Amino acid sequence: MGLNALEIFKLLPRTNCKECGFPTCLAFAMQLAMGKVELSKCPHVSEEAKIKLEASAAPPIATVEIGKEDNKLSLGGETVLFRHEKTFYNPPPIGVRIAEDMEEKEIEERLKKIRELEYERVGIMLRGEVVAVEDKGKGRFLELVKKALDTGKALLLMSENVDNLKKAVELAGGNRPLVYGVEENNLEEMGKLALEKKVPVVVKGKSVEEVRGRVEKLKSKGVKDIVLEIEPTDIREAFFNLVALRRAAILKRDTSLGYPVIFFPGKLTPDPLKEALYAGLAIAKYGSMVILNNLSGETLFPLLVEKFNIFTDPQRPLATPEGIYEIGKPTEESPVLVTVNFSLTYFIVSGEVENSRIPSWLLIQDSEGLSVLTAWAADKFNAETIAELVKKSNIEKKVKHRKLIIPGYVAQIVGELEEELPDWEIVLGPREASHIPAFLKMWKSA
Ligand code: SF4
Repeated sequence: MGLNALEIFKLLPRTNCKECGFPTCLAFAMQLAMGKVELSKCPHVSEEAKIKLEASAAPPIATVEIGKEDNKLSLGGETVLFRHEKTFYNPPPIGVRIAEDMEEKEIEERLKKIRELEYERVGIMLRGEVVAVEDKGKGRFLELVKKALDTGKALLLMSENVDNLKKAVELAGGNRPLVYGVEENNLEEMGKLALEKKVPVVVKGKSVEEVRGRVEKLKSKGVKDIVLEIEPTDIREAFFNLVALRRAAILKRDTSLGYPVIFFPGKLTPDPLKEALYAGLAIAKYGSMVILNNLSGETLFPLLVEKFNIFTDPQRPLATPEGIYEIGKPTEESPVLVTVNFSLTYFIVSGEVENSRIPSWLLIQDSEGLSVLTAWAADKFNAETIAELVKKSNIEKKVKHRKLIIPGYVAQIVGELEEELPDWEIVLGPREASHIPAFLKMWKSA
């Protein structure tokens, strides 16, 4: 169970030595309770206290990592039931299943889609991230694993043959797969595979109690990286199980159920639309990975957006990285616009610039995710910050002219900005983004 600030304080040395960077041990304890500092910042905490504090800081749902070292996917690791209580951390990866008994054309089609379907949203790329490969005993399992590896996606390896799984794990090399699935009859062998190859395994079962029993047996053998699947008979039962597992882990701190959960909506319906609806339900509550049979732009895009919206920190505005963004193919005569890095602002402004069909340079200044007027009022988007960005961005080397278009809402900084950037002519742009196309069509570099 997580400790509160006072309980943490009692375990600290209470000398107020300040070495952690906080004036008192209590101040440090309060930050630790909120998860804002690392325990390691206090060099004087005793070994005994460290064990208690680290155990209390562990999330009630274990985090399981799969994929390549430089592109890991984290499953689980959640700490709350509802996003507004804190935040959700690890968006459930969405994947597609291929199986040995499918037509070659179908396999290629699915792999093509998972490789190629991707969407940019407020400067962030959204895409499917996993290929599930299912062994059906036809001798082509490893061939399909190789094809899946070629997509660069993370892998879910599914087989009833543990030897085949072992070979497939070896083939995956540095791309750490998730291995499916542990049942009563293969628990010993799968446990050995998990320990020997250091891979996470999916524990299957028809009920919460069946899964719990298998997890406890695996844990007693030393297996730590576990993902759960309770095989439902309908969507009502699936939803009930997903919620029950999350509540048991978070509210009751049930360590035998505190693991990520995988969900296959296609096991409940052959209908692509229903499958997507069920996937949407599991993304909202509380799937940690969703594997689809039917992958199409019409269903993948809304699922990715749903995931993106739910798994953002409600306490921090969405922000686009600071920098120069090229819209179209701008030249040294193209207009230069500057605005803030609130993602919605970036999304709308870049969209309107695109609509104008005038290739442009868009400078995005880090305003800590605040919108134009809020950032200006908070002194995070002013003449000084804009001038600093113009200088460090090297935009001067990309354009011949010296005209900088600023948002119409910050007309009051024009004079100051002219002083900060004496070589530049400061042009007041429109207040509303929707007026940008008309404004740019009139724009002239000289
Ligand atoms: Fe207290 Fe440790 Fe911080 Fe010193 S370093 S003030 S002992 S928490």
